[in-house]
Amino acid sequence: MTPEENRPPLEPGQVATLSPRLRRVLCPNPSMMTGPGTNTYIVGTDDLVVIDPGPDHVEHVEAVAAVGSRPDGTNAISRILCTHTHGDHSPGAARLAELTGAEVLAFADRDGLVCHRHLVDGDAVTGNDFSLRAVHTPGHASNHLCFLLEEEALLLSGDHVMDGSTVVITPLDGDMGEYLASVQRLIDWTPAIEAIAPAHGHVITDPMAKLTDYLSHRLDRERQVVDALVATAPDGAGTAALVAAIYTDVPEILHPVARFSVWAHLRKLAEEGRATASDPDDADAVWLPVPGPGETVYLGP
Ligand SMILES: [Zn+2]
Repeated sequence: MTPEENRPPLEPGQVATLSPRLRRVLCPNPSMMTGPGTNTYIVGTDDLVVIDPGPDHVEHVEAVAAVGSRPDGTNAISRILCTHTHGDHSPGAARLAELTGAEVLAFADRDGLVCHRHLVDGDAVTGNDFSLRAVHTPGHASNHLCFLLEEEALLLSGDHVMDGSTVVITPLDGDMGEYLASVQRLIDWTPAIEAIAPAHGHVITDPMAKLTDYLSHRLDRERQVVDALVATAPDGAGTAALVAAIYTDVPEILHPVARFSVWAHLRKLAEEGRATASDPDDADAVWLPVPGPGETVYLGP
């Protein structure tokens, strides 16, 4: 993999060669949620697999299809994989399949995605010179798969791991407990993952540092949620009040996104018996701390 200082720039429409088996085309859909845009990856040299065709952006999908076009008019792209069914990842699959004749593979038909075949954890998608292993990584989305390019110990991580921003966990499909377990699973992976190619941003060349940072950041945040929640006893509080108490260093424009994160933490705490709400599935529920054995948190901090 290219060392970090020599890495190809993220330029929409350009085909960046990341390794002999891996190319990337950036979709021009930059935003607060997508960073520079969605990375579409192309794996293989003659029999090609596309990972995350992106949104149904005509020029982008045509640029990806062009990577596989052969002089005889056939197309080398035989399979299209989607890491999950969010709008910036999978809607381009139908158009790309039509242009190339490729099969569409993902965890499930959802959000408008129609698959030729479904993949489960451990499934292999192979070509002449590569093997991609599907790794079910629920958390950001319940149907999220990462793909491990085994020859390069490189993980195509979709939105499970991103370069430059944290991953948004939005209940109810998003699940903080599952997310942290999915991150831990990658940390424990043997043999170790040597690089991560995310759907947003550059290739991550020190994956273990990134993954352990992710875990410690989330656990720090969880401690803040617990402290803020305990301070609201005995009345309790909703996510908006907790965000205002916790995210004092974050501009208010980002608070609506932070509410999802706090809600996801509260739901994890509820599963662990450490917080409660009349309806944990309600985004506007009032939450209360649950005293641990021998604790009397309802009396206040
Ligand atoms: Zn997503």
